[in-house]
Amino acid sequence: MIEIIQEKCIGCSKCIPVCPYQAITLVNKIAVIDLNACTLCGACVPECPVDVILIEKKQEQAANFADYSGVMIFAEQKNGTVMPITFEILSKARELVDALGKEVTAVLLGYDFHDQAEGLIRHGADKVIVVDDKFLENFLDEPYTQALAYIVNKYKPEILLSGATAIGRSFIPRLAVELQTGLTADCTGLEIDPEAKELVQIRPAFGGNIMAKIRTTNYRPQMATVRHKVFDPLPKDENRKGQIIQEKVIFDATKFLSKFLKFIKDETQSVKITDADIIVTGGRGIKCAENFSMIKELASSLGAAVGASRAAVDAGWIQYSHQVGQTGKTVKPKIYIACGVSGAIQHLVGMQSSDIIIAINKDKDAPIFKVADVGIVGDLFEVIPQLVKQLSK
Ligand code: FAD
Ligand code: SF4
Ligand code: SF4
Repeated sequence: MIEIIQEKCIGCSKCIPVCPYQAITLVNKIAVIDLNACTLCGACVPECPVDVILIEKKQEQAANFADYSGVMIFAEQKNGTVMPITFEILSKARELVDALGKEVTAVLLGYDFHDQAEGLIRHGADKVIVVDDKFLENFLDEPYTQALAYIVNKYKPEILLSGATAIGRSFIPRLAVELQTGLTADCTGLEIDPEAKELVQIRPAFGGNIMAKIRTTNYRPQMATVRHKVFDPLPKDENRKGQIIQEKVIFDATKFLSKFLKFIKDETQSVKITDADIIVTGGRGIKCAENFSMIKELASSLGAAVGASRAAVDAGWIQYSHQVGQTGKTVKPKIYIACGVSGAIQHLVGMQSSDIIIAINKDKDAPIFKVADVGIVGDLFEVIPQLVKQLSK
C-alpha cells in the first residue's frame, strides 16, 4: 500500500521524475499517485524532503523449508506427445535429486491423452501426476497456471523446473507470481550447492558476458525454466518402476481471461531448428530478405533447417521463429553452417555446442571462426552457389 499525506505535501514535485512508472502527478500542487500504475518500487520515498510518502509492503511469510521436498518438472506435451525438452529436464532433475536424496515427480497436464506417464518413468521420473481435464485440452495460461499451482501447493516440491519453451515462458512466470516465489528464466545450467542444499540456477547475464549464479534463498519452490538442448536426456530404462497418480483440479473458470479459437500452424519452417540435425543460418551478411532464398536452397539441398541471426530477424528478412541465440532458440545440431554471421556472444550462446560448426565469412578475423571447426574465408555469394552446385551432384 502507498499513500501520500496530502495535508503535509509541499508540492515540490521532487518525487515525480524519480518514478520509473510515471505514476505520480501534481494535482492542485499536491502529489497524487495512480495506484494502477504504481508497482510499490519505493523509489519515490527517499526523494520526499518532508517524508510524506508512506509505503507498506505486504509482509510475505518465508516458506517453511521443511514442508518442501524433491524436484518436480512440468512435463510438456503437445497433441498427446511429450516434448523432447521434458526428457532433457527429467535427466537433470534426476541428477539433482540424487544430490538431494529425494524423488522426481513429473506433472502431465492435458486432455484425453494416454500412455505418456509410463514413458516419463522410463526416462527418470519416480512419480507422475496426471491431470486430465477438458479445460487443459489446448494450452491457455490461466487453466494451466491454476492446475500446476494446485499440484505444487499440494505436493510442495523444493524445486520446480520447466522448459523455456513458448508454453513454459508463457505461464511459468504467472505461476511464480501465484506461488509468491522467485523464478530464473532460460537457465543453461543447474546444480545443487552441496552445503546449503540449494539450487544454483545458472544463466547468461549482461548480454551473455557473464554467467550469473542465482539462488532462491527465502522462498519455495525454487523455480527455473531451462533452455532446449543444454542437457542430454537419459536413455530409456524399460525396467524403471514408478507411481502414477491421477489428480482432479477444481478450476475457477471466472478467472480465465483468454479463449482458444484455433491453432494456426507455422508454415514458414518445414524443419524446426530445435529438432534439426543440420542448420544453415543466415546473418546480416546476406544483405536482404530476397537473398535468404540462397540460404533456403542450401538448406533444402542438405535437408536442413534455416536459422537466422538476430540482425537478420530484426531487419525483417525472416521470422523470429528462426532466430538462434540468447533471445532466440538454443540449438545443438550435428552440423551448423553460419553464413555471413559475425559470431557475437549472444549468437554463440545459442549454437556453440553444435557438433560441427562451419562458418562462411569474408572477414578472416570474424569471431565466429574462433568456434568454427571449418572456416571458409570468402564471399558467401560465391561460396554458397558453389556448395549447392557440388551438393546437387
Ligand atoms: P553482423 O554482426 O553485422 O555480422 C555480419 C557478418 O557478415 C560480418 O562478420 C561480415 O564480415 C559478414 N559478411 C558481410 N558480407 C559478407 C559476404 N558477402 N560474404 C561473407 N560474409 C559477409 N544475436 C543473435 O544472433 N541472436 C540472439 O538471440 C541475440 N540476442 C541478443 C540479446 C541481447 C540482449 C543483445 C544486446 C544482442 C543480441 N543479439 C543476438 C545481437 C548480437 O549482439 C549481434 O548484434 C548479432 O548476432 C549480429 O548478427 P550478424 O552476425 O548477422 O550481423
Ligand atoms: Fe512510482 Fe515507485 Fe513511488 Fe509507486 S513507489 S509512485 S512506482 S516511484
Ligand atoms: Fe509532495 Fe513529497 Fe512529492 Fe514533494 S516529494 S511533491 S512533498 S510527495
